Amino acid sequence: MTGATPQPVSWHVARWGDEPFSRGSWSYVRTGGSPADRWTLAEPIGDRFALCGEAVGTDQAAMTHGAYASGVRAAHWCLSVAAPGELIVVVGAGFGGLGAARTLTDAGYECVVVEARDRIGGRTHTVLLESADGSPAVAADAGAAWLQQFAKNPFASLAVSLGVQPVPTDFHTPLASASDGPVGDVDGALAQLAAAARAATAGPLPDVSLGSVAASLLLTGDDARSLRHAVDADIVLETGGALDDTSARGFFEEDGVGNDDHWLPGGYRTILDHLASGIDIRLGRPVRGIEWSVRGVTVETDAGPIRGDRCICNLPVSLLQAGEPMLRPGLPVAHRAALAGLGMGVVEKVLMRFDRRWWPAGSSGYMRWYDDPASWCEWGDLTDGCGAPVVAGLIAHDAVARQHHGRTDAEIVRAASAALRRWADALDA
Ligand SMILES: Cc1cc2nc3c(=O)[nH]c(=O)nc-3n(C[C@H](O)[C@H](O)[C@H](O)COP(=O)(O)OP(=O)(O)OC[C@H]3O[C@@H](n4cnc5c(N)ncnc54)[C@H](O)[C@@H]3O)c2cc1C
Repeated sequence: MTGATPQPVSWHVARWGDEPFSRGSWSYVRTGGSPADRWTLAEPIGDRFALCGEAVGTDQAAMTHGAYASGVRAAHWCLSVAAPGELIVVVGAGFGGLGAARTLTDAGYECVVVEARDRIGGRTHTVLLESADGSPAVAADAGAAWLQQFAKNPFASLAVSLGVQPVPTDFHTPLASASDGPVGDVDGALAQLAAAARAATAGPLPDVSLGSVAASLLLTGDDARSLRHAVDADIVLETGGALDDTSARGFFEEDGVGNDDHWLPGGYRTILDHLASGIDIRLGRPVRGIEWSVRGVTVETDAGPIRGDRCICNLPVSLLQAGEPMLRPGLPVAHRAALAGLGMGVVEKVLMRFDRRWWPAGSSGYMRWYDDPASWCEWGDLTDGCGAPVVAGLIAHDAVARQHHGRTDAEIVRAASAALRRWADALDA
């Protein structure tokens, strides 16, 4: 392609890492931690308080349907200990909180959801991208956008029943190019790292970091380059955390994303609105403290306390780790240890609508850009699904620090467009 890089006519830049009510994108297992930490967190604390969310009690971690399932599970615990007529307070209207509130409401329990933001959905947020020529705005997601593990995802049939036809995306056949030459055997490098990680942590051996496993491979030349690309695209982009902080045992034990994913036309908003209908949700009420005792729970907000009988808490692990809001009497030792075993990764997304599709269209709708150092590594071409030329770019961890932090939205969009252009030019080379 020749000439100036086309610039989008509208865009949305996500800042999940900076937002006070998420402080990150999703959880991952840190070195020395374990997927079992997620189940420890799911243990109710006494008979008044329980946690839920994507990090809690799930083998579908870091995904919307895992968060929802955790909320449903917490609600069933509540139903097993609550008496009819009790008031259950749910803190947070993400998928976890909605799973809890939907289940309790459907079971006939009184339930109130207290949400800090002025919208529901937490780390799912459907935004509108305007056109320059008066054609209709299109909806796209700034957070979660795919139904993952489609065959066992309960939202798959729900979406269809709501009139949405999810679009399959094949993450295994990306249209890929690299800034430093032809793309090598990235899948082979990932398989080699996975085998080395399993060997390094087999049986009773202690956990080690994926960074130390990668270093132990002593790869050079093209092999080292393919490993770097695999790490950037398949690991750092999947955790949002540092390789040296990622558990070698935990990473490959968890059910990763990328298999049988389907993109949701119109965005997650349709599912969220359906699940939230008829639930008492108080928006714009940051919770400052949650206190529980044998007498019940008190949830402190700026608009005054909300008193109830039990509380299900859907806060991201980053906030729990920071001690916000204040929990009294606080989490037990086992829960605090489990929290320390998890990290909160940072993966940011930019959505850009152009006046035409100027980039090459692949068959899978999925593109990878192996930059050195990593930049906007993963792209989704949403054009066919949206009915307008829209792409979504993802950037993770240290690349966020290099290319995102401290920049204005306009600067980020220019850098992302430039990365997409370099990806397209490298495909042609
Ligand atoms: C860029 C990006 C892409 C993703 N892509 C996918 C994808 O394609 N598919 C997928 O399945 N998953 C994806 N995910 C992950 C998915 O979005 C999350 O796992 C899921 O939405 C988390 O739900 P949750 O209920 O656990 O937490 P949240 O959605 O974070 O809900 C927590 C709620 O608590 C509220 N809250 C926080 N503090 C307070 C307070 N003090 N008082 C009251 N309320 C408070 C928040 O505002 C929020 O509404 C993606 C995430 C990101 C960021």
